[in-house]
Amino acid sequence: MGMALSFYNTLTRRKEEFTPLYPPLLRGDRGGSGKVRMYTCGPTVYNYAHIGNLRSYIFADVLRRTLEYFGYEVPQVMNVTDVGHLTSDADTGEDKMELEARKEGRDIWQIARFYEQAFFEDIEKLNIEPPAIKCRATEHVPEMIALVGKLVERGHAYQTDQAVYFDVTTFPTYTDLSRQSLEDKLTAARDEVQEDPGKRSPADFALWFKAVGRFEHHVMRWDSPWGVGFPGWHIECSAMSMKYLGDTLDIHTGGEDHIWVHHPNVVAQSEGATGRKFVRFWMHGAFLVVSSLGRDLKSRPNEESEDAADDRRMGKSEGNFLRLGTLIDKGYDPLAYRYLCYSAHYRAKLRFTWESMDAAASGYKNLQDFAARAKQIGGDEQPWVAEHRRKFEDAIADDLNMPQAMAAVNELIREAERRGEYGVLDALYSFDKVLGLNLRESAERATSVDARIEGLIKEREQARADKNWARADEIRKQLSEQGIALEDTPSGTLWRRTG
Ligand SMILES: [Zn+2]
Ligand SMILES: [Zn+2]
Repeated sequence: MGMALSFYNTLTRRKEEFTPLYPPLLRGDRGGSGKVRMYTCGPTVYNYAHIGNLRSYIFADVLRRTLEYFGYEVPQVMNVTDVGHLTSDADTGEDKMELEARKEGRDIWQIARFYEQAFFEDIEKLNIEPPAIKCRATEHVPEMIALVGKLVERGHAYQTDQAVYFDVTTFPTYTDLSRQSLEDKLTAARDEVQEDPGKRSPADFALWFKAVGRFEHHVMRWDSPWGVGFPGWHIECSAMSMKYLGDTLDIHTGGEDHIWVHHPNVVAQSEGATGRKFVRFWMHGAFLVVSSLGRDLKSRPNEESEDAADDRRMGKSEGNFLRLGTLIDKGYDPLAYRYLCYSAHYRAKLRFTWESMDAAASGYKNLQDFAARAKQIGGDEQPWVAEHRRKFEDAIADDLNMPQAMAAVNELIREAERRGEYGVLDALYSFDKVLGLNLRESAERATSVDARIEGLIKEREQARADKNWARADEIRKQLSEQGIALEDTPSGTLWRRTG
């Protein structure tokens, strides 16, 4: 029996054994049947996602796939933020969506749908399983208004001329998740431009913005008990997660930047309204970091000096970003980027360089080639494979340790080659349920040949048997021109598609 499934919980700053809130009746070592209620903070659709954002969705996908590997059902909910996210995560600045619509001179709804579609195309290319439910903020405004109403009713919220705010002093555990003292937060907030003199404390945050003052011309707007306006960014995640998953979620995932503002606000809103625990496990993915080696990463004019680019977090607001489409244009398989993400633990920063991207592409190619070889050679699984399965499972069960899981995969491959025993595809394909690298599809594609090609390969084998080397070479050349590579081994001629 292996060890339990354990995840690092940002709330307790510890690795904890994971079981879902509603445990199944029957359990295996690490799971069994049962539902894990999981919410993933989705994209703000004002621009393309950059590969740093996408890393965070790869992390959430690996988490979900790991839970599924151990037998859980995961009804995952992901929001699409199409209103209310200001250029600062706090209440200052402009709505990112409205700003982009003005910049591009396009209709705001068009912008929202366009970038939403681009996002879901990207995650499909990365073989990220689509969430069971994806929900747009703009389609849940009534739920948000109801939640704000409840907070006002329970004394957690108040309104000014400009907005409705959450009063953080009414929620004593406000700083539990961020572990940033309220005094520090207040000091930081005081340095910001205060745009509403009616706000009781600079640490309070907006639940609803009225279409007045700086938001007088806000295009997206709805009626509410507090006047026409639009919801603040944070309220959508409380309203939608509780609508689809209930008051208490098993897991909530997001980028590590959400630990200090967004997520504490979401907790305050949800627990303030229900009086129940909101999230049992908070899990956060670390950033992708761009080093100065990748100066040509910046697909947009960069506002900073050339040598200040070292170790900058990749963020849209930094004007310093690389899209999945850029990698594809440069000839990389999107799944090679997925493979690259496994080179670091999800809680560790990952430094992106073109060298590491190349290394990942060739590592992925080797893995695909191995799967194609193993498929052609075949064989039954031998008892020694079990130990590698256990190592792989131990790695993913231990807070999704993907570098260690990949080490287990590579050990399995080395041992198969050393022993000349290739009955490892069942193991590899079951690992791939978590890895999501489409190994079965690529092995099948690489080894599928049509009858004409198969005939040529047979003819060449006969020519070799007859020592007719000229004909054998001619056929090899002909096949190579058609993108078929041959390899003569003691167990016969192997082939694979190279293109
Ligand atoms: Zn979140
Ligand atoms: Zn969120």
